[in-house]
Amino acid sequence: FGILIFRLKQSMKEVTRLSTIDSLTGLYNRRQFTLLSPIAFDNWKRLKENIALLTYDLDNFKLLNDTYGHPVGDVVLKLVATKIQQCVRNKDILARYGGEEFVVILSDCSLDDAKNWAERVRGVISKSPLTVGKLKINVTVSIGITETTPADESLDDMVNKADSALYNAKNTGRNKVSSYLEVVSLNSILV
Ligand code: GH3
Ligand code: MG
Ligand code: MG
Repeated sequence: FGILIFRLKQSMKEVTRLSTIDSLTGLYNRRQFTLLSPIAFDNWKRLKENIALLTYDLDNFKLLNDTYGHPVGDVVLKLVATKIQQCVRNKDILARYGGEEFVVILSDCSLDDAKNWAERVRGVISKSPLTVGKLKINVTVSIGITETTPADESLDDMVNKADSALYNAKNTGRNKVSSYLEVVSLNSILV
C-alpha cells in the first residue's frame, strides 16, 4: 500500500511540474506567471515595495529559424533562457510568456536598477555567440521595462506598458533596452 501512495505522490508532483513549467526552457510557463505575479503586485500595493516588469523578445528569430532550422532555434531559446535565469534572484519571477518572448518581475527594484540589470543581461547575451553543435550563433534581445506607478491597476497594465517599450526598442534598432517612461516622453515631444 505504501508503494502505491509513493507512486501517487510522484505522479502528482509530475502533474504539477508539467502544468507550471515550460518543457523547452525549464522556466515558469505563462499560466504559472499569471498565478504568481499578482502576489508581487499586491506587495507593491500594500507595502509600496517597487517592482519592475520587463519583457524580452529575441531579435530576428524567424530569420534564425529559417537559416538554421527550427530544432536549432529551440536550442537557442533554451540557452538564452538559461542565461537570463542565471541573472535573476530567488525572489524574482521569470517566465516564458510566449514563443520567443520572456517576462521578468524584479522585486524591490527601482526603474534605474532595472535598467542597469537589463543592460547587463542584454550585454551578456549579445557579447558571446551561442554554441549549438558546431555552430556559433550570434543572438540579441530587445527589452522593454516599466516600474510600478500609482496609475497601475493591475499587472496587465504593466505588461502592456513594458510591451510598448519593447516595441520602441524594436523600432529603434533592436538589441536595445527601452523604458515606458522614454516612450511617454518621446510621444509628448511628438504631440
Ligand atoms: P523581431 O526582431 O521583430 O522580434 O523579429 P522576429 O523574427 O523575432 O519576430 P516574429 O514574431 O516575426 O517571429 C518570431 C518567430 O519565433 C516565429 C516563430 O516561428 C518562432 N518561434 C516561436 N516559438 C518558437 C519555438 O518554440 N521554437 C522555435 N524554434 N521557434 C519559435
Ligand atoms: Mg522576435
Ligand atoms: Mg515575438
